[in-house]
Amino acid sequence: MIDSLDTYCPECDTNVCSELREQPAKLRVRGDEIDFTETVAICPNCGMEIGDARVEGENLDRAYAIYRARHGIPSPEEIRELREHYGLSLREFSRFLGFGEQTVYRYERGDIPDPTHSLVLEQTKTPQGARQLLAKNRNRLSERSIESIEMALSMPAKELPWARPLPSKLEGQTADAPSAKNGYRAFDPDRALALVYLLAQKCKDLFWTKSQKAIFFADMFACACRGRSLTGLRYAHATYGPVVDGMEGLRYLLAESGIVEFCEQGWGEVLVPNKLPANDPFSEAEHALIDGIADFVNSFNAAREISDFSHELECWQNTTDGQTIDYADASGEVAEAMEARMPSLGDLTAK
Ligand SMILES: [Zn+2]
Repeated sequence: MIDSLDTYCPECDTNVCSELREQPAKLRVRGDEIDFTETVAICPNCGMEIGDARVEGENLDRAYAIYRARHGIPSPEEIRELREHYGLSLREFSRFLGFGEQTVYRYERGDIPDPTHSLVLEQTKTPQGARQLLAKNRNRLSERSIESIEMALSMPAKELPWARPLPSKLEGQTADAPSAKNGYRAFDPDRALALVYLLAQKCKDLFWTKSQKAIFFADMFACACRGRSLTGLRYAHATYGPVVDGMEGLRYLLAESGIVEFCEQGWGEVLVPNKLPANDPFSEAEHALIDGIADFVNSFNAAREISDFSHELECWQNTTDGQTIDYADASGEVAEAMEARMPSLGDLTAK
């Protein structure tokens, strides 16, 4: 994190190396009051708060990201991803959507799409929706663009970059009786939400993919040393490591409950604790375990490292995409590998 910035202090009329500080702030975005953390640049000479376009731009981005997450409005990255999926230029994608020529350009630059435009953008995520748009706006598009859209539409739906399993997949977990698949606990949404909240609070920069590993390690470790998982979640093999089986269902639960906000940061979304869960489902010993897991997650510097660690595990190597990672097969091995990396975790096993 950058904690200083070369800028100009109008008060001292000189270039200074300002100190960057974080503080809670409120901003009104389209009638919504957004609570977020803002960065301010402070002059080291006079102590004045310096207005700097870079810092203010970043603050706006943060507040907008929270607003977007709250209202399910696509981010600039998602819009670009959609456009690239259809292989269109900014102008052609605007025409495809039936927007003004410069509209997508503005949205990819960070402007917040209005509700009607958000719905149209959503529409492009399904082949039926995209076909309707194509039928409606075909005469505005070049032959090359039409061809490009049709090519994208011929792709099997499950391979679409934003294709997500339905939330119902997670709901299906609720009905499961305790077994080796859920760590001998029926899926408990309150526990899952509280665990994610605590990990988001304790782990630095908990990106979504990293959060999947953090939850996996917490559940597997709990199962190995306490005989039961913490949440009853099932896990599956994904290319980049173990994930919650039906993770988009978990994401849906998280978004619904508002206990965390998904905030755009760098190349991904970070989970930021937002609202304390109503009740605390964990015992004192379980809290100690979760603290240990957070220390373990924080012992990795880059997201890459924790991925590499998970790729060394046999339970990941011996499974293929989408296949369940069974607690009975995995938890012992996972706990052992975790303790080998961080011996202090052994104290938790002893209890
Ligand atoms: Zn100054």
